[in-house]
Amino acid sequence: MAWQATQRGLEVAVIDDPTPSSSSRVAAGLVTPITGDRLALSWRWSEFYPVCNALYEHAQRSTATDFWHVAAAWRVFQSDPERERFFHRWWSEEGKREMAACGITLEPMHEDQLLPFRAPRGGFSMCPAGRLDTRAYLDATAKHFRSKDRWYSMRLDCNEDLKVAPDRVLVPRLGLQGRIMVLCQGIAARTNHWFAGLPLHPARGDILELSTDASIPAVVHHEAWVVPVQSASEPNDHSRCRRILVGATYDRQCLDTSVDHSTARGFRSELLQRWNNMLAASTPSAGVHDPGYCEASIGGDGYEVSVLRHLAAVRPASYDRHPLIGPHPTEPNLYCLNGLGSKGSLMAPQLANLLLDCMLENKAIEPSLQWRRREDKTRGDDDLRSDLSRPPKR
Ligand SMILES: Cc1cc2nc3c(=O)[nH]c(=O)nc-3n(C[C@H](O)[C@H](O)[C@H](O)COP(=O)(O)OP(=O)(O)OC[C@H]3O[C@@H](n4cnc5c(N)ncnc54)[C@H](O)[C@@H]3O)c2cc1C
Repeated sequence: MAWQATQRGLEVAVIDDPTPSSSSRVAAGLVTPITGDRLALSWRWSEFYPVCNALYEHAQRSTATDFWHVAAAWRVFQSDPERERFFHRWWSEEGKREMAACGITLEPMHEDQLLPFRAPRGGFSMCPAGRLDTRAYLDATAKHFRSKDRWYSMRLDCNEDLKVAPDRVLVPRLGLQGRIMVLCQGIAARTNHWFAGLPLHPARGDILELSTDASIPAVVHHEAWVVPVQSASEPNDHSRCRRILVGATYDRQCLDTSVDHSTARGFRSELLQRWNNMLAASTPSAGVHDPGYCEASIGGDGYEVSVLRHLAAVRPASYDRHPLIGPHPTEPNLYCLNGLGSKGSLMAPQLANLLLDCMLENKAIEPSLQWRRREDKTRGDDDLRSDLSRPPKR
């Protein structure tokens, strides 16, 4: 939001409590064109991808940091119907035309090309796909705005610290005031009254960082996704990576971020099990057992593998998996950007743009993105619906 606002010439201040277990800091930052069982094009890909690509490139240039990586990602077919669906959906003349129209390239891959993964049915590569190293991005962003005295690293009590006047929003505790405030709080939005009705439907996610002898040349979507983690010394050499991320679980029952209780240990075992299932039997690192957190283990052929880290966070998801954005119903200077679910890296830059269009140019937020759409639907009131789609009066 801050980057997009700055690009529109606005002066911004960012207040953030940089908690290590925020969804963004734990996320893998994957941006993937084809997702889900149906192998559908990601929702509004053609609109969202160019904007996120441009924004992350701009932020990289502005901070002289490397955190956005675009490369082909692989997907391994999990069943015969999935394989058939791919060829039917994307390898027909119509599918190829659609690919070209959305600027993506999908190429079937044979089992041998997908090593070290177990892929008896083959798979496909998809390009472009991106990975945002979210922690590096957030750290670089904080450093950038801090250098301009525009970054406040603290937790705000939004109920107490935030004052709303007819033409501005004030944070007296920081001596700050501005014309507009956008609350981008993720799951923490539930603890203040401003957007208390935000229909969040959160989901915990766990990921593991493993060290492995298996050579992982690309981001791979299999029983789980696997991400080779680049090190600074070898920025473009994925094949020599030995640290990887494996994820993610999706759970709506356990909504804390602890990795120490029995439920969390269950998530860790689930991910290790998936990792074992994904590898071809000949892969040295296949067969990781979980001897306990952070301890090394011996894989199938005597290679050392270990769980380096287990991380968990709660995704600010919504009921229909679409974002939740827009103005406060009675305070026209207060907005929210939330409900990013599992696709914050792809969607956030364009959603920020749409909010800015609403604030600066009075453009309506379309109904499918409005944060009050659920309440709107249950009331079934057409007048209210059209009210909500209108930008606030200035
Ligand atoms: C395991 C896992 C894997 C994921 N993988 C991916 C992926 O591959 N690709 C993808 O696109 N998405 C992924 N996601 C989802 C992604 O993390 C979210 O879509 C996105 O990061 C949500 O961003 P947010 O800014 O809305 O919320 P958050 O990341 O929760 O950020 C909110 C920030 O606001 C701060 N804050 C809140 N209240 C206050 C306050 N009162 N005062 C000060 N600061 C405050 C918080 O401290 C935090 O820093 C994943 C999520 C998880 C959990």
